[in-house]
Amino acid sequence: MKEKREDLVENLFSHGYIKTQKVRKAMLQVPREEFMPPENRSYAYLDRPLPIGKGQTISAPHMVAIIAEKLDIREGMNILEIGTGFGYNAAVVSEILGNKGHIYTIERIPSLAEMATENLAKTGYKDRVTVILGDGTLGYPEKAPYDRIYGTASAPNVPEPLKEQLKIGGKLIIPMGSHNYFQDLVSVLRISKDEFQVQNLGGVAFVPMIGKHGWPED
Ligand code: SAM
Repeated sequence: MKEKREDLVENLFSHGYIKTQKVRKAMLQVPREEFMPPENRSYAYLDRPLPIGKGQTISAPHMVAIIAEKLDIREGMNILEIGTGFGYNAAVVSEILGNKGHIYTIERIPSLAEMATENLAKTGYKDRVTVILGDGTLGYPEKAPYDRIYGTASAPNVPEPLKEQLKIGGKLIIPMGSHNYFQDLVSVLRISKDEFQVQNLGGVAFVPMIGKHGWPED
């Protein structure tokens, strides 16, 4: 598995998805197979999203790399993730943050939040990643403000509570747009209390973000 992981990471590097050594090192460190259901583990080092149950997926590695690079994560930051899944992306971000940083990650489906908590514990990230069960479109005001916020599910608009919980100078990245997988990855930089600079980073395909400031449940 380690060799396959190295091959995948070098591929992502040579294709320009991974640009920095900090993201490269983090993705070399985190065993993606430990964040997948047993029946899919042999596919862990394909650059693809894969099912984790309940109609949800573990994000493709190139997407994890793109978001990590665009977020410009630095050691010691306070970060919020919306959409934990099985916890892989949070583990990669935690590697970059080091032990002075922390990532709070919110998942709305109880069985996924439980599995993520187990996966993060067995791989050694328990103290640096906190999994919260709930509606991530409300953010997590208890630990705000955040240096960085990112979503791994797609919302119709940038949820207002997430903008409010971002530090001035902080950055938020979220897939935005149609429920049916035609979306843009949007970056929002908070310039001042009321000013936000929005940039479109290009087309993506994520599962819907369901919640009060997201899509309604079917
Ligand atoms: N970060 C994950 C990874 O490491 O692969 C990606 C998981 S998947 C692409 C997106 C997740 O977002 C799903 O598990 C889904 O249940 C969750 N989700 C959707 N809407 C949500 C919401 N409002 N709050 C929290 N989680 C949500």
